[in-house]
Amino acid sequence: MRFFLLLLGFMIPFQPAQAAVDIALRGQDPVRIEDVYHQKGIPYIAVEDALSAVGLSGHWNAIQHTFRIKTKRGWAEISPASGYLKLSDEYYPLDEKPRFIDGRLRVTDNFILNQLAQLTGRSIYLRNLDPETESSPEQESSGLEKFFAFLLNKKMTETGPLIRAVAIDPGHGGLDSGVIAASGYKEKQLNLEIAEKLAKKIKMRLGVPIYLSRDGDYELSAEQRLETASREDVDIWLLLHAQATFSPEIEGVSLFIRPEDIGQKIPEEEVAGQLVSESLQLAQELVKALRENEISVRGIYPSSRLSLGRGNLPTVQVELGYLSHPEELLRLQNPEYQNHIVQALYAGIRRFATHNKEKSNGVN
Ligand SMILES: [Zn+2]
Repeated sequence: MRFFLLLLGFMIPFQPAQAAVDIALRGQDPVRIEDVYHQKGIPYIAVEDALSAVGLSGHWNAIQHTFRIKTKRGWAEISPASGYLKLSDEYYPLDEKPRFIDGRLRVTDNFILNQLAQLTGRSIYLRNLDPETESSPEQESSGLEKFFAFLLNKKMTETGPLIRAVAIDPGHGGLDSGVIAASGYKEKQLNLEIAEKLAKKIKMRLGVPIYLSRDGDYELSAEQRLETASREDVDIWLLLHAQATFSPEIEGVSLFIRPEDIGQKIPEEEVAGQLVSESLQLAQELVKALRENEISVRGIYPSSRLSLGRGNLPTVQVELGYLSHPEELLRLQNPEYQNHIVQALYAGIRRFATHNKEKSNGVN
């Protein structure tokens, strides 16, 4: 075993950045596509592979330098490095430009879930089977703005089987700063930065919609905070906050769930589906993933402030750390550490979703 692990550790740096995706039209068996390249965390799939998975066809036009897709509404055209899809003389903006990678024109998961779904007139299911390799640093914020603007306009479609959508509530905003560190750094800013990064990561890896209660520095009413969490397709609700205390040595992440979800203290190894609330399961997966990423966790606690919202919706409030701890404060402001904590939260969500999927498969 030790030899195997050593060998694995030795081999990983030489593996190409490849992964696989499953693609299907709603109600049909998925097609696995292995020839997938990740760039900055975004999967790029050869357009021919994506088309055949959803029952469309197309060809490369070497003279016009475009790829033509045959649809019921006529020919659709995309071009490498062009940010538009052309369909009957109309141009539709793309989230990411198609790219030639390794000799094939490739499109992203967004293109498949949105543009291809529209061209087929049917919902498309896409699951990214990326083996949790850490992606490169996040893209610039202008891309993020575009991304959220796009999300707002997007019509809900049936998506992957793991979870349908995630609601994230970055605590505070506007005049309500939350905790303010001695340096002036404000909790509302940290909450939003982590929320945006986490939203992007879940969206890219799981291909599901993410609803943020706020995407800027403004105040929300209690009703507005609940609005995103009460959408029908939301399967997970995460609330992001940070803490402060008079004891500057206290640090670490704390997780809060509704008091009725805590139940009796059950050893982590003995968690058996029915006995433990889904909120507790989600919190436990988050704790596990955070600890695996060497982030210190204080524990899971009850919070009566969390009694609002859909009662059975898996809900966890994550207190990201203590702004009163000088080193943790610096860490929390560091984009690299932020990516690290986001990766851990994502991994916990993914594992929770995977277990739930297995469970529901067992029942059906
Ligand atoms: Zn707070």
